[in-house]
Order: sequence, then structure tokens, then C-alpha cells
Amino acid sequence: MEKIGILIETKDGEVKKTNFGVVTAASGQDHELYAFVMDGNGSAYQASLQEYGVHKIVDISTDKGSIPWNPEAWAGAIIHAMRHFDINTLLGLTSSQGRDLLPRIAAGLGAPLVLDCIGVNIEKRTAIKSQFSGKVNATVKLNGSQSIYGIRANAIAPAPAPCDAEVIPHPVVTEAGQLVISGVKKAEIEKVDLTEAEYIISGGRAMEDALNFSILKECADILGAAVGASRSAVDAGFAPHDMQVGQTGKTVSPKLYIACGISGSIQHFAGMKTSGTIVAVNTDPGAPIFEKCDYGVVGDLFEIVPMFTKQLKEVLGK
Ligand SMILES: Cc1cc2nc3c(=O)[nH]c(=O)nc-3n(C[C@H](O)[C@H](O)[C@H](O)COP(=O)(O)OP(=O)(O)OC[C@H]3O[C@@H](n4cnc5c(N)ncnc54)[C@H](O)[C@@H]3O)c2cc1C
Repeated sequence: MEKIGILIETKDGEVKKTNFGVVTAASGQDHELYAFVMDGNGSAYQASLQEYGVHKIVDISTDKGSIPWNPEAWAGAIIHAMRHFDINTLLGLTSSQGRDLLPRIAAGLGAPLVLDCIGVNIEKRTAIKSQFSGKVNATVKLNGSQSIYGIRANAIAPAPAPCDAEVIPHPVVTEAGQLVISGVKKAEIEKVDLTEAEYIISGGRAMEDALNFSILKECADILGAAVGASRSAVDAGFAPHDMQVGQTGKTVSPKLYIACGISGSIQHFAGMKTSGTIVAVNTDPGAPIFEKCDYGVVGDLFEIVPMFTKQLKEVLGK
């Protein structure tokens, strides 16, 4: 039986939904799944994690309690747990936290790492990732006895696989490293995190100014969606950079992506290509986005979006 480690991300006392797709990616007939939890609340996540097939929840902490956020200390503690449980394969999310932790863990172990995977085959030790702005999917082969995979959020659909999970406390001793966190400032993010969102409505240069994004926000509130932006909208100061979707922004994979006044450049597409359904609203019938979307509306977003929001309110009774 192969033991597979999964780095779990939590937020406000809950397991982030996107972790469940990572658990599914790690699953296999002969796999024993170990979920590494860093906030000292392992037992609180037992019900949700065992629903997706996690067998062991490893609650990593020091004798003083949970380890305050420090990627160097966290990576050291996870490496300690991997060695203790004899785990050679680790999966996590390619989130901001994952991008900080997984390379440190890989470097600490001397293990190969592939980030932003949209598929993995643990037996064959291969990962699929999209490259060249989404033009090709590359299958990457990992060599050596250990492998670390960062999975793109929402790229793998979670599949329930109920079992009984055991919570195992794993005390570690952290040593003062070279990295000192002097403070953590939370970004003012939307109610729904862009990379986690199941529904996204994004605006481009055509939004004209920052205030007009309220049209998209109103629609997003009804849908339970996050609001994104193209780089042109960000460069023009209509939206902050943490809302940017694309090659130099965030990579998203929602069930539904609605692009409003976005032309559909390859750089924008690179960040949202793996969305389930893509809808475009654009006044120009020749806009490249119409070649790439599932549904297209040729029209003025300032008319279409409020009309859509009104319809949604009626249909959903909100
Ligand atoms: C190295 C590099 C990295 C990049 N990274 C990114 C990235 O991460 N993300 C990204 O988005 N871009 C990125 N870009 C920029 C990219 O090439 C495009 O310039 C950008 O995506 C265009 O943004 P846009 O679609 O909002 O603007 P435009 O291309 O100007 O398109 C605006 C669209 O709005 C339509 N429109 C106008 N008025 C209305 C209306 N009232 N209603 C409906 N439609 C309307 C127009 O027909 C047009 O199609 C990058 C570029 C480079 C070179």
C-alpha cells in the first residue's frame, strides 16, 4: 500500500473546498491517504476529509500549539511528518500558500516538483500541465523515489469516497530559521476567493472605470461568484492586480466563467482556459473570445449584465 501525503489548506475553520479535488487526485486503489493539517484543528476536519477518502489526519503542531505561519517552519514540519510516516509522495494546491510551501518541501527533500498540474498519475509518476499559454498540455515524468505535485484548484473534480479517518497528533520541534515573519496583512479580497470560485464574472477594458465594476459585483453576489478582471482593466486602474486573470495573473478553473468586454487574448485565455463553461459578452462579433467560448452574447455589457442580474434575481427569488 502506497502512502500519499496531502497538504490541506484551511480558511476560517473549514477545509477549503478545492482541497477535495486534490484528495481525489491522490486517491487510488492501493493508496493510504494522509492529510497534513497545520492549524491544530485536525479533529474538526475529520468529517469532511473522511467523506472524500482520507484515512489519516496528521495534526502537526508543537507543544505550544499550532505553528504560526512561516513557510520555512511549516515546510520543515511537513518534511518531518513525511519522513516519520515514510511518505514519498505529496500533493497540495498550487495556491499562494502552495507556491510558497511546496518548492521549499521539494528542495528540503531533494525531490522533483511539478506545479499547476491539471492531472496526475501517481503510479506512473506523471503529471499533466498546460504550457505555452494553454496551447499544449505537457505530460511531465518525475524521476527519483519522491514526488511533489501542486494541483491547479478546481482542475480535478472531487469524488466522494467515504471512509473512517483517524486523527493522529504529530508533535514537532521548530527551530528559528533564517526567515522571520514580522507581520501578516490580509488582502482585502472579495467574499469569494477568485482561485477557489465555482463561478466567476470578469470585466475587461470595456468596463471603462472602477465604479462600473459594481455592475459585475451585483451579479456576482446573486450568483455566489467572484469578480475577476483582464490585465487591461487592471493596468487602467479599474481593478487591483489580485483580481487579474491570465498568464501574469491568477489561473482559475471555475464551473462557469463569464467574460464581459474582454477580447479573448491568449494571455487572458491562459488563465481561464480550463473553466467548465465559458460565456462571453462583447459588442464586436469578430472578437477572438467568440471562437473560444461555449456561449456568446453580441451586445453591450452595460445592457446585458444588468438584464442578466435582474433575471437571476427573479429566477432565484433573491
Ligand atoms: C507577457 C504578457 C502577459 C499578459 N498577461 C495577461 C494576463 O495575465 N491577463 C490578461 O487579461 N491579459 C494579459 N496580457 C494582455 C493581453 O495581451 C491583452 O492585451 C488583454 O488581455 C486585453 O484585455 P481586454 O480584453 O480587457 O481589452 P481589449 O483587448 O481592449 O478588449 C476589450 C473588448 O471589449 C469589447 N467591448 C468594448 N465595449 C464593450 C461593451 N460596452 N460591451 C461589451 N464589450 C465591449 C471590445 O469589442 C473588445 O473586444 C498580457 C500580455 C503580455 C504581452
